[in-house]
Amino acid sequence: MQSGRAMLNIDQLSVNYGGLRALDQVSLRVNEGEFIAVVGPNGAGKSTLFKAISGTVPAASGTIRFDGEDLLALPAALRAHRGIAHVPEGRQVFKSLSVADNLAMGAWPRAPRAAQWARTLERLHGLFPVLAERADQLAGTLSGGEQQMLAIARALAAEPRLLLLDEPSMGLAPRIADLIFDCIQSVHRDEHMTIVLVEQRAVEALSSCDRGFVLESGRVVLEGAQAALLGDERVRQAYLGR
Ligand code: ATP
Repeated sequence: MQSGRAMLNIDQLSVNYGGLRALDQVSLRVNEGEFIAVVGPNGAGKSTLFKAISGTVPAASGTIRFDGEDLLALPAALRAHRGIAHVPEGRQVFKSLSVADNLAMGAWPRAPRAAQWARTLERLHGLFPVLAERADQLAGTLSGGEQQMLAIARALAAEPRLLLLDEPSMGLAPRIADLIFDCIQSVHRDEHMTIVLVEQRAVEALSSCDRGFVLESGRVVLEGAQAALLGDERVRQAYLGR
């Protein structure tokens, strides 16, 4: 789905780590309801892009606007309140808390009332039934795939408007990664969630998205609609192994 209304507008964004320029004048627009894929090799700056959006690394220059508002003027917590949920690379669930408590922690930006939370939880359990079965289990004892499902569900618990997913398939067996991709696609399709997905599994990412961006050495080197990217010779050679 592509309504054409810009939700996220990044213009000429640069991020430095000391002397290293991790993002170099990146411009990128995400429309409401879109599914965007960002692909690129290790160290291209994909995670840094998400960190700059969610506010865990500062920008050196450029602008990020969310619904027209200057995001860079807001601390990370307020960006979450505005409806941005970031599922970082490596899952990072609260391992010593139960599955249920992890989900409840995810709801903090909205502080829902009991009835509203019950509805949210029902929806999350519908998406990821295993999380209902494992509600009392410590998150650290879940399998990698289950932890990834929990990390995504915890982000959705905040009822975000924009979901940033950083390498959700990382370290998972192909069958489990496929399952996670199916879940992500159903969140987009059934809930019209606006999603930006960073992935090294370029085939799956580009096959799922409406539009995609290729990031290399901190720069956007290519962008386009799904079909154009899948058909692009450079993308086919570098990322699709053809
Ligand atoms: P990967 O797919 O390997 O996660 P990536 O595309 O997400 O890579 P980033 O993690 O954003 O890339 O890193 C971009 C560049 O910034 C890399 O050269 C990386 O080594 C460097 N970098 C990332 N985080 C830091 C940090 N905290 N301090 C210094 N350099 C960093």
